[in-house]
Amino acid sequence: MAWRRFTSYIAVMFLAVSVNTLTSPSVQATDASSPDAQQPRKARLVSRVDTEDRVAFITIDDGRSVTDSMTDFIRDNKIPVTSFVLPEWLKKLWGPTYSTFPKMTFENHTNTHRRLGRLSLQKQTKELCEASRLVTKIAGDAPRFFRPPGGVMNNDTLKAAGACGMPYVVKWSVDTAGGLVNPVGARTTLQRGDIILLHYIPQDTAVLKRVMQMMKEAGLKPALLRDYLP
Ligand SMILES: [Zn+2]
Repeated sequence: MAWRRFTSYIAVMFLAVSVNTLTSPSVQATDASSPDAQQPRKARLVSRVDTEDRVAFITIDDGRSVTDSMTDFIRDNKIPVTSFVLPEWLKKLWGPTYSTFPKMTFENHTNTHRRLGRLSLQKQTKELCEASRLVTKIAGDAPRFFRPPGGVMNNDTLKAAGACGMPYVVKWSVDTAGGLVNPVGARTTLQRGDIILLHYIPQDTAVLKRVMQMMKEAGLKPALLRDYLP
């Protein structure tokens, strides 16, 4: 009898230890992800905007070698621009003047311009959240859009952007790489809803002027993405 009670005791102890061993990792996992415990919504991927308005969207990336000719042209013509400037360059080159662009917003293009395709969800989230934190600190306004460097991304990128408070990952429908305006697909003109990719590099002042001319020819006006992607 005593022996049976003893074996029952052992069995209960064994069970308790086993249950504890089994449950510990999941308890830890819940703790580790507790800031995101409510499962933040995944960001939506867009490369153009579905709109009846005759508008297109100028987006300009990076910001390392922004020139006066570019910023003067933007400012003088009051062009709405969605800028994806890296925090480091935003601070160095834009900090003193960003507020002089009434129709410009600063969004997220990672913190260090890393290609995201092979990074874990955790690393992508760290990269994006850090960039949002810095851009908010410098420009005073939290980014709503994320643009992946080189357009390289995966499903985790949508989760990371959502976790860092950005409802949209924004690619483009028109690429101006190499100084040429290249609408994607067979068409040769700009269309309403186009998202146009430029860079803050010296040769892109001429490209921006060409884009503005093409927009005029197509009866389009530049608009801010934030006004169309709430
Ligand atoms: Zn870039």
